[in-house]
Amino acid sequence: MVNSIRRYEGRHAVITGGASGIGFKTAERIVSEGGTVSLWDVDAAKIDEACHALGSSTHGIRLDVSDPDQVERAAKETAEKYGKIDILVCSAGITGPNSKVADYPIDQWKHVFDINIHGLFFCNRFVVPFMQKNAYGRIVNVASIAGKEGNPNASAYSASKAAVIGLTKSLGKELVSDGITVNAITPATVDTPILQQLKPEFIDYMLSKIPMQRFGKVEELASLITWIASEECSFTTGAVFDISGGRATY
Ligand code: NAD
Repeated sequence: MVNSIRRYEGRHAVITGGASGIGFKTAERIVSEGGTVSLWDVDAAKIDEACHALGSSTHGIRLDVSDPDQVERAAKETAEKYGKIDILVCSAGITGPNSKVADYPIDQWKHVFDINIHGLFFCNRFVVPFMQKNAYGRIVNVASIAGKEGNPNASAYSASKAAVIGLTKSLGKELVSDGITVNAITPATVDTPILQQLKPEFIDYMLSKIPMQRFGKVEELASLITWIASEECSFTTGAVFDISGGRATY
């Protein structure tokens, strides 16, 4: 799809978790607006499918964001191939188990943190130096409304997403003089494959919390992310954007 809006002409974006859901739809929008995209994802089959769907403006790298060595290599490979990295959208994430605190498996708690916050930090950490070289960058970290409000039986997920918000606020201030903005978004439930990780009763609970009484659409997420990740969003950093159908407005 070619878009008459061309905000991403000449720009290169890295999208973690870009082979599915919110990340994939964001990649599609950036490509449609003239940009090139590297999809960093752990799922090789989905990467192939996504690259095939998006065409020659897209490059895929199979990696696990929780491994800092893999992330560092991917950042170098991407910058060598495209000459720069202008945009980073960190969308890779997992929900972890729906479990009460007294039963919460310790290894699963650590696994959720390894991916949702340590992995996200590694991506910020290893991409920022390439943005600093050009004194330009846009980072969008995908948190969750759970990081502000908490969700019952989802303590690791909620706590890891709260950490994403804290990291974003900190880097937003730290990187101002480098021409890099760092913002986060806090979606309520969005209709994507990640919902398959949750029990049906938990999905019903989350729907009941949204005043608009529906889940978000990936197109709505891509619209917000591609505005924050564009040059148009030039006076906002360290901010947290709600996209929650009215669930939380603070
Ligand atoms: P999704 O499952 O469709 O996409 C997530 C992608 O991340 C997948 O392609 C998966 O392969 C990839 N991924 C998982 N672990 C990885 C790892 N270790 N390394 C690299 N890639 C990895 O889910 P989605 O709904 O598009 O979720 C995207 C982000 O949005 C997540 O961070 C999620 O927590 C957040 N979010 C989603 C919702 C929702 O309801 N869908 C709500 C709030 C926040």
